[in-house]
Amino acid sequence: MELSMKKCLCGMAALDLCLVLVFAMLCVKRAETHQAAREAFLEASGSVWREDAAKGKNAGNEAKKIALTFDDGPHPTYTIELLDGLKERGVQATFFVTGEHAQLHPDVIKRMQEEGHLIGNHTYSHVQLRSSNKKSFKEELQKTNDVLYGITGQEVLYVRPPYGSWDRTLEKELNMFPVFWTIDPTDWSCLNAETVTRRVVKKAKENAIILLHDYYPTSVEAALMIVDELMAEGYEFVTVDEILTE
Ligand SMILES: [Zn+2]
Repeated sequence: MELSMKKCLCGMAALDLCLVLVFAMLCVKRAETHQAAREAFLEASGSVWREDAAKGKNAGNEAKKIALTFDDGPHPTYTIELLDGLKERGVQATFFVTGEHAQLHPDVIKRMQEEGHLIGNHTYSHVQLRSSNKKSFKEELQKTNDVLYGITGQEVLYVRPPYGSWDRTLEKELNMFPVFWTIDPTDWSCLNAETVTRRVVKKAKENAIILLHDYYPTSVEAALMIVDELMAEGYEFVTVDEILTE
């Protein structure tokens, strides 16, 4: 009785050992297959990686973020064309709209929201902040927030101050944050899509904020060319909050 039990236990131990060995062999085989697949992938993508390294870019790691921002809209024709082009490319942008234009074209604002773009405040009537008009400037921002809230049901957090004039005390008073820019191709005066594109592409770098106006057909044309060129260079277009909150 004792002997047969010992035999039985022995047999079970041997079976366990066998199972462990089979499992270990399977693991080695899997690791080899995985390694082979990885090497094949590196071999195949080697040229792309070397190209990135040669350009001094981040060698196939994460895409470099960059943001397109559009002021003064929405425009009933050009903003629509821009939204169509961005949608085709799967790209999101940031629109700093005036309350006046938002009120005229609420459907365009709604579409921006539905397609994942960020909507910011550019005052109600495109007023510049001066030492003499802080009160009415603040009212313009609040009125625009109300208009946008009425259309989207969302609070507005970001403001692009017209002409870049800003007063930091407004940030606390309104719980809003100003968004400036790092690349300004002066598209409103240039009105040549190729020149605007060249100016932007030349200065492009990670976390840059590009200033354009969706109020000119040449700017819309330029914006889509900029997207195509910079995406080919490994940039990822994001809404401006993704750059500011990093
Ligand atoms: Zn403006």
